Amino acid sequence: MGKPDILRQDLAASDSAASIEVPGRCPACGGTETRVLFSATDRRYATTGRIFQIVECRQCRLIRLHPQPVPGELNAHYPPGYWLVPGTTVTDRLRHWFRRLVLRDHLHFVERALNESESPGMVLDVGCGDGLFLEMLAERGRTNIAGLDFSIEAATAAWTRAGVPAICGKLSHAPFAPGSCAVVTMFQVLEHLYQPASYLDAARELLAPDGRLIVQVPNIACWQFMLLGEHWNGIDVPRHLLDFRLADLEALLETCGFEVLRRKHFSLRHAAETNGARMWKDVIFLALAGACLPFTLLEAACRAGSTVMVEARKKS
Ligand SMILES: [Zn+2]
Repeated sequence: MGKPDILRQDLAASDSAASIEVPGRCPACGGTETRVLFSATDRRYATTGRIFQIVECRQCRLIRLHPQPVPGELNAHYPPGYWLVPGTTVTDRLRHWFRRLVLRDHLHFVERALNESESPGMVLDVGCGDGLFLEMLAERGRTNIAGLDFSIEAATAAWTRAGVPAICGKLSHAPFAPGSCAVVTMFQVLEHLYQPASYLDAARELLAPDGRLIVQVPNIACWQFMLLGEHWNGIDVPRHLLDFRLADLEALLETCGFEVLRRKHFSLRHAAETNGARMWKDVIFLALAGACLPFTLLEAACRAGSTVMVEARKKS
């Protein structure tokens, strides 16, 4: 779609450092000029004391982490248990209930897309984690589902815990036939990728002619970011390499051959970790989530929620 070849490299946390040929270029437009917004480090997991910058592309305004950790280094910033594997404690069950509550919203969004497209084929959840979303879809009678994750820990959990077929790998090398998917979902995936266009290209190839792509990302144009700044957990330095506004996401989808059909702003986020040391933080988080519900509903209604989800289909 007119993008430079460097924007089509397929990189993920599992790649070798040698794969990055042109670091420092914007993955959306290829521009090299940036302005620094602020500095930040890994506040969430403290995997490093290194200071990173959050910069904005002067050409297309996409916000990104700089410098981006090389892939081998990036792996070290994903702590053990980052991919959710639920335990059996009361807190684990509480957290599991909260995740189901959040995913129920995703489920309704995806089911509407399935109903309206009526395309035959599989539902492929890219970045499936422990498979909970697909498990919930199966509970509602949906068959022909599969998950994909570049974490072997996550793919194993999806298969053994949730009982959904899951593959460990990258989307561009997924063993599925072109046109075989009715829906491809990517919940909180694109912000982790060096070159998100490579995943969108692969999704386009896998989708049936009227199939639907559902993408959700943290929304840096949210009120929570304006209030909390670098303390907002949607930044998640240094694991989030990109920080999207809705306009950035739509521009990227457009460049990759998609048209956006529907947008939804949402505020509740499920915590993406099971580290026991965070147990009380999670309990407090759940209490705060309840207390802040009026605020989160208002910001979502004002299109300033902390995540944004879109439905798109291939341009004809
Ligand atoms: Zn740019």
